[in-house]
Amino acid sequence: MSQILMIEDEPRISSFVAKGLKAEGLATTVAATGREGLVLALTGGFELVILDLGLPDMDGFEVLRKIRAQDASLPVIILTARTSGEDTVTGLTSGADDYVPKPFRFAELVARVRLRLRGDNGNGQAPEDPVLRHADLELDPLRHVAAIGGVEVDLSAREFSLAETFMRHPGQALSREQLLSRVWGYDFDPGSNVVDVYVRYLRNKLGASRFVTVRGVGYRLVDEKDYQPEAD
Ligand code: CA
Repeated sequence: MSQILMIEDEPRISSFVAKGLKAEGLATTVAATGREGLVLALTGGFELVILDLGLPDMDGFEVLRKIRAQDASLPVIILTARTSGEDTVTGLTSGADDYVPKPFRFAELVARVRLRLRGDNGNGQAPEDPVLRHADLELDPLRHVAAIGGVEVDLSAREFSLAETFMRHPGQALSREQLLSRVWGYDFDPGSNVVDVYVRYLRNKLGASRFVTVRGVGYRLVDEKDYQPEAD
């Protein structure tokens, strides 16, 4: 299991991300201060670091500079609530591999984590094909393109994340809560019916019979060919 280090002082965010990454098969250790995070990052026990910029004891950029001074190749993804382009440029030129602005969707973060874990493995193998496929449905998370039988379908960012979540767990019943936390992030309202609304959008755009209602749970992505209508 890949070992991820998350340096983040907000427990609400770090526990949400750690839980989500664990479900994706990525073990996560959380450090709540820059100093603790720096010590852990330099142990050599981690394959990737997710680094918040606003830390209580040190600036995230300082943590990054100190990591880079000793380890040039450890992938670092910056999380930032600061939206100015200047920060992004500073982050990337001072050695971050990528950045994710807050608030972020879990699906977006995990896509970037997977990309970085894959990219820098140094074993000379061709990178894994990032395109997700299920029956005639294709989703390219990096280019943000969805297609059915090769014909592109226009999806909003939220619809895309929801479709991506289903495609990463084909055939599996996903609860509304799982979908809310994956797609809407840590600020979701658990009583919201937004999942049902967006599944309806996906049914309209991608085919009604792909997304089966699992009564009392949520939804499941199936191959249209295998679809058996359930008596409701
Ligand atoms: Ca913070």
